[in-house]
Amino acid sequence: MRPARDIIREECEMLHLTDKQLREIMNRLHNDLVKGLGKDTHANSIVKCWLTYIQDLPNGKERGKFLALDLGGTNFRVLIINLGENHFDMQSKIYAIPNHIMTGTGVALFDHIAECLAYFMKEHHVYEERLALGFTFSFPLKQLGLTKGILQRWTKGFSCSGVVGEDVVQGLKDAIARRGDVQIDICAILNDTTGTLMSCAWKNHNCKIGLIVGTGSNACYVEKTENCELFDGEPGKPDLLINTEWGAFGDDGTLDFVRTEFDREVDNNSINPGKQIQEKMISGMYMGELVRLALVKFTKMGLLFGGRGSDLLFKRGSFYTKYVSEIESDKPGDFTSCMEVLEELGLSHATEADMAGVRHVCECISRRAAHLVSAGIATLLNKMNEPRVTVGIDGSVYRFHPHFHALMCEKIAQLVRPGIQFDLMLSEDGSGRGAALVAAVACRQQLATA
Ligand code: BGC
Ligand code: MG
Repeated sequence: MRPARDIIREECEMLHLTDKQLREIMNRLHNDLVKGLGKDTHANSIVKCWLTYIQDLPNGKERGKFLALDLGGTNFRVLIINLGENHFDMQSKIYAIPNHIMTGTGVALFDHIAECLAYFMKEHHVYEERLALGFTFSFPLKQLGLTKGILQRWTKGFSCSGVVGEDVVQGLKDAIARRGDVQIDICAILNDTTGTLMSCAWKNHNCKIGLIVGTGSNACYVEKTENCELFDGEPGKPDLLINTEWGAFGDDGTLDFVRTEFDREVDNNSINPGKQIQEKMISGMYMGELVRLALVKFTKMGLLFGGRGSDLLFKRGSFYTKYVSEIESDKPGDFTSCMEVLEELGLSHATEADMAGVRHVCECISRRAAHLVSAGIATLLNKMNEPRVTVGIDGSVYRFHPHFHALMCEKIAQLVRPGIQFDLMLSEDGSGRGAALVAAVACRQQLATA
């Protein structure tokens, strides 16, 4: 009989993307990006390339006190940020968004946000002040201006009713007005990728791509205004920030040639089947579950745990994405974290060979994610065709996975056109500080035109 180890490796081959496949993915993504930008093709495009109405990157001279909201990642946060010369200070608080609110009504969601905001202002002794606010809202928005954005779809476990098709800024304004106790000027609504780019660009002027590999996956980049056929804002500025919403890539079947049975199952069991196909192959909301499905299959095949699983192993959602990072943090030959995870899952009967198998599955899933993200970034770099670009990055997967950064550096270098240089830079809290920066730049302009 062949060793289980060899069969597991063979089974996992479908999770390995060759450079040829990655280049094919790049071609397809490039076509979808062009479609998203084009006047006649946008309506039917899968990758939407939304305009952000941000044309000025921060210049480091932004000053003042701002509030920010960060909704749509692992946590919901309220922040207060003081931008000063060459430094800023920031205080923030995480508030829970209970599941019944994530899947309840839009009105209840906005009331909850406004309530947290008011509590926060009290706690930070700015309850009486009138403050500007930047709203990081990390979902696909059709922006009609810096303070107007129509929600296209919920992603990542949210499904509040009555918000899709509506202006999210108005929703929040109405909730603040219903309370009637605090005075807030919403100066900007932005995506987390945008905040990430802005917060890196504050210090690094080459930063022209913002990337999130966290609960969800998405990227924004600086495009030439002339390529943005739908742009109707202030003319004369050479560049425009585009929110690609590449998480939707594959929703028309474009990625079916590399999807696996695990991807199809994750999608079928999600609250948005058929949507956010690329995101479901990459991001933290789904990575652990992909691993779990592979482990279940190999257990049932008798290749792991002597064919004996556990209740938790067979339970949807029980294998957290953070386990993948923990397991891969073990040094080669050491299985300390792996053993802890398997014990938590009720699999203390795992042998060392089982642990090596589990780790191999984790590596295949996370490597595939890193390679798909790399293909996306290489596509953007090639499209921008600038000699040197910094990519500002945030998100739990990128931040906590021990090898994600190295895997990306290596793969992007292989995929990008020769001569193009890039740097991958961890963003310092893009969703928070970035929101304050966008609000600061916006206030500067709104004051100037008032
Ligand atoms: C959303 C994006 C967001 C990304 C990362 C996706 O699900 O559609 O707007 O940038 O998650 O948070
Ligand atoms: Mg975030």
